[in-house]
Amino acid sequence: MPELRFDDRVAVVTGAGRGLGRAYARMLAERGANVVVNDSGGALSGDGVDAAPANDVVREIKSAGGEAAACTESVATPTGGAAIIAAALERYGRLDILIHNAGIVRSSPLQQMSHEDFDAVLDVHLRGAFHVVRPAFPHMCASGYGRIVLTSSIGGLYGNHGVANYAAAKAGVIGLSNVVALEGSAHNVKCNVIVPAAETRMAQGRDTSGYPPWGPELVAPAVGWLAHESCSISGEMLIAIAGRIARAVVAETPGVYRDSWSVETVSEQIDAIRDASVPVIFPVLPNAHADHIAYSFRMTGREIREGAPHG
Ligand code: NAD
Repeated sequence: MPELRFDDRVAVVTGAGRGLGRAYARMLAERGANVVVNDSGGALSGDGVDAAPANDVVREIKSAGGEAAACTESVATPTGGAAIIAAALERYGRLDILIHNAGIVRSSPLQQMSHEDFDAVLDVHLRGAFHVVRPAFPHMCASGYGRIVLTSSIGGLYGNHGVANYAAAKAGVIGLSNVVALEGSAHNVKCNVIVPAAETRMAQGRDTSGYPPWGPELVAPAVGWLAHESCSISGEMLIAIAGRIARAVVAETPGVYRDSWSVETVSEQIDAIRDASVPVIFPVLPNAHADHIAYSFRMTGREIREGAPHG
């Protein structure tokens, strides 16, 4: 296969001053993209600002012969998000790729989690995604091309102890991505979610001595394909961890239909209701929403009218 390149493409990568984002930015630039390296550079908690991480990555890219520009605005505010997208448009005149990767961590058990820590994490991961998608999306639709990658997490799919804020934000990103995929489909704007895991400062404090190699370079190719013109999927989730690349899906059990239920019949049928041996998957595109409703209504055995209700 010929090398999949990004010549003349313009990419924004948020949180690209360190860790996974740095690997994505370097990979895109190596393959010809002009990259806006966005990073506000603060601590893992999100406190503070530091221009050095973004500037360092731009320097690395340029010394390897690539093209990049630093942007130290924060994704956590609407004005910051707008400035990040404006930086790409002003500097390079277009925007083809948006990878929202910036992230912070503020862990504490749910019984102690402050509203401030809950909000701060949502501001970067979830609202931050909206803050950059919102100004980028109209440009991509108008130009008839766009590749967007949003970042979820194992915590977003399954939760974890002490990360109620992070898990809620990372699950929310999936909902946002699905709508971007749906509304972008008529404009060749594709949006997918990466569920990464890699050795970065986010792993600090965890005993990873028994882990296999799990560097960011094992995640970057999956993100690169999602960001490439040849990406054939939208509204999907790819997992990348320690060399394993896989697809995550939302699955339903076929379920049980009755024309009336009581608490007792739910109790009697719960094993059959929960039986996931034949999972049912509704791909977001073209229309999982309608497919879910139609599948459910078909179980009634009645004729289905056009114009299913919204839910
Ligand atoms: P990292 O801390 O190395 O990098 C995150 C970068 O985001 C930092 O350089 C930070 O300065 C930047 N950032 C934070 N707040 C910002 C803001 N408001 N505006 C702009 N930049 C900001 O962490 P990482 O592991 O590379 O994480 C990258 C993404 O991958 C995050 O979204 C994270 O939640 C996700 N993720 C990582 C793992 C993992 O195992 N490392 C697992 C699941 C998900």
